[in-house]
Amino acid sequence: MNVLVVGGAGYIGSHCVRQLILAGHRPVVLDNLVFGHRGAVAPDVPFYQAELGDEEAVGRILAQERPEVVMHFAAFAYVGESVTDPLKYYFNNSVATLHLLRTMLRHGVTRFVFSSTCATYGVPESLPIVETLPQAPINPYGQTKLDVENALKALAHANGVSFAAFRYFNAAGAAEDGSIGEDHDPETHLIPLAIEAAIGKGPPLRLFGTDYPTPDGTCLRDYVHVDDLSRAHIAVFDALAKPGAALFYNLGTGTPTSVRQVLAAVEKVTGKPVLVVESPRRPGDPPALYADASKARSELGWRVQYPDIDSIVASAWRWHQTHPDGYGDRPKS
Ligand code: UDP
Repeated sequence: MNVLVVGGAGYIGSHCVRQLILAGHRPVVLDNLVFGHRGAVAPDVPFYQAELGDEEAVGRILAQERPEVVMHFAAFAYVGESVTDPLKYYFNNSVATLHLLRTMLRHGVTRFVFSSTCATYGVPESLPIVETLPQAPINPYGQTKLDVENALKALAHANGVSFAAFRYFNAAGAAEDGSIGEDHDPETHLIPLAIEAAIGKGPPLRLFGTDYPTPDGTCLRDYVHVDDLSRAHIAVFDALAKPGAALFYNLGTGTPTSVRQVLAAVEKVTGKPVLVVESPRRPGDPPALYADASKARSELGWRVQYPDIDSIVASAWRWHQTHPDGYGDRPKS
């Protein structure tokens, strides 16, 4: 299948591009390279540098490449920044996505796969999180993703768009062959920062909150391998053949892992201690977020190949060892 991958040079998008190729599909990438890396996309994959909200540019790409499916990964995803600069998030994550959807409709492309997030649930009413729980985001980032989910529902009803919105839990890890991995600037995620702290490349890890109502006092999250996430996006293709299909899936392993358990895994995998500075809670962090992903398992046959934190951290560590400066395409701030 011809698939346009918007944000295909980013962390999750680039892993999805690689999985699409492995599954025999033909990805085409659109990315503005603000956060993405040209080196994250294989040189033989058609690549367009453009803004997803640029209807003229995207229209030309759709006319030329004629994708049957559009996958959309391009978003700003710093929760804290979304609180201090909400307009940036509303314009990029919500408004630009509406432009993309309008351009698709004009070109008769009606199948869409959307990167959503467990942040749409806010502080969940119950755990593990099932798709039917109320969605009440506690920050603009989660709200912009929920806005797009709601727009998609309306487009499914009115225009026959078929879509899957995947609500990711904590994406982590790197491709098995070490070719691509996580390279954010600034990096805020726990696993890469803990690895840098372990090898002395970064400062000691600030552990945000040790007084949560959890077994060891630190936050519980559901870390899921980026290749496992990617495979779900491909497994949903058959279901998108039905016009008006409106599908929502949580993607997580279902295993709650505390920050301290992640740090222990990093120490085990790297063989080095992680220096830690116990710090106050980070604003906006719910105590526990983990998925009930049984819907993706039963409807899509989705199975994770990295069920445990050690194997996820090991893949991140392999990437770090072979690419200590990430893609090395821009100076780190
Ligand atoms: N965390 C931490 N120190 C850091 C970064 C993250 O203690 O330097 C904690 C954070 O408070 C959360 C967990 O690690 O409980 C995962 O955070 P991350 O930013 O990786 O993902 P998020 O859950 O925010 O999507």
